[in-house]
Amino acid sequence: MAEKEAWYKKSHWQILIGMFLGLLYGLIAAAAGWTKFTNDWIAPFGVIFINSLQLIAVPLVVASLVLGVASLSDLKKLSRIGGKTLAIYITTTAIAVVFGLVIVNVLQPGLKVPEAARMQLQEQFAGDVSAKEAVAADVQNRGPLQILIDIVPSNFFESASSNRNMLQIVFVSLMVGIGLIQLEKSQAKPMIDVLESLNHVVIRLVDLIMLFAPLGVFSLIARTITDLAGDDFSQILQLLAALGFYCIAVVLGLVLHVCVTYFGLLKLTTKMPIKTFLKGIAPVQLVAFSTSSSGATLPLTMERCEEKLGVSEEVSSFVVPLGATINMDGTALYQAVAAVFIAQSMGMDVGLSGQITIVLTAVLASIGTAAVPGAGIIMLVIILQSIGVPSSGIALILGVDRILDMLRTVTNVTGDASVAVAIASLEGQLGEPSVDEPDSHVRLHGDDPAQHDEPVSQD
Ligand code: ASP
Repeated sequence: MAEKEAWYKKSHWQILIGMFLGLLYGLIAAAAGWTKFTNDWIAPFGVIFINSLQLIAVPLVVASLVLGVASLSDLKKLSRIGGKTLAIYITTTAIAVVFGLVIVNVLQPGLKVPEAARMQLQEQFAGDVSAKEAVAADVQNRGPLQILIDIVPSNFFESASSNRNMLQIVFVSLMVGIGLIQLEKSQAKPMIDVLESLNHVVIRLVDLIMLFAPLGVFSLIARTITDLAGDDFSQILQLLAALGFYCIAVVLGLVLHVCVTYFGLLKLTTKMPIKTFLKGIAPVQLVAFSTSSSGATLPLTMERCEEKLGVSEEVSSFVVPLGATINMDGTALYQAVAAVFIAQSMGMDVGLSGQITIVLTAVLASIGTAAVPGAGIIMLVIILQSIGVPSSGIALILGVDRILDMLRTVTNVTGDASVAVAIASLEGQLGEPSVDEPDSHVRLHGDDPAQHDEPVSQD
């Protein structure tokens, strides 16, 4: 029988309290002009929190993915899981873009920006635009097959030295796992033992780092507010007033996508109640919101999928890192809304062919978007260019981009977790969820709950 826990001991409540206090502090700091103090004394805790999550992402993915593949009895299963995962990822992203387009065409937020505000925004953010355009030009100059070349590294240690190379790390781990299957049991065992042990250590580290999460998110939210406001809080309010309709369109699209597409997917493929799913991933969503990075959130997404939602390690170790890298539905939806919004506010009409181009480029761009803060707006430059809208138009939305980045990152990680649960269920590898059990498994001595988590098929 699961032991009940006091509400304030649950990690999502502690993180929420951290966020609320961070918001409160950020507002006071912005009003009182404490930006420098905040940068020097508060912000570093957020950076440490993100760094420590990123620190364990590579070992976690390598250990759990190699073990996941090595435990497969045949490789057909791997290609079946891979095929289903990619199909669901691409389909849900295309649906997200269509939702974005429908909403932006119906609400037409671009027609509601006052002319004076438009001119002011373009002037204010013109400097930031050229830096983003330069990065986007770099991406655009690559050949069509560069994406395949980028997946296969020439040196594993070089790939492992940056979390941005997650696709390469997934590729190498798959190859090592496949290599292990081909070996005699006695030859494979030493390496499997080491990786198993590493895997347990890293999962424990996620728990330890999460003890620090309330302070980490406090610091991240406080920093975000003071960054946005500078020392003049009225700036944020002015921005929100000018771009309110645009923000509403993006948020509406994200909510619609989560409720219709992800919850629909869960309903279609599993018996898991939506409430259970949400309870399981609440801390993941809060950390994604505070860090704006699905890459930094990845270790937590994997841990919660396995330990709380009952997804088998075999499925989660493949589906979640792949999702954090290529499945960005929130980003794709936002890019579609932003592209049409910018065109509308510049008085340009994006016809049907332009909208179809947006669907194609936004799906591809979201695959190529790095799982880090602010990456989505760089790929937006490419989308704008493909529909003939001047990329300088991103100046219009830069001011509120950080806020929307937080929300689209929540959507991105929710997508990864829903697809992991769906695939696990389709593969008969979804165990009983254990969302009501105590959150932290940090123990100094004794039992290892991970070892009791034998997946139970729902069929
Ligand atoms: N910050 C997003 C993520 O990490 C990417 C983006 O849309 O900028 O998922």
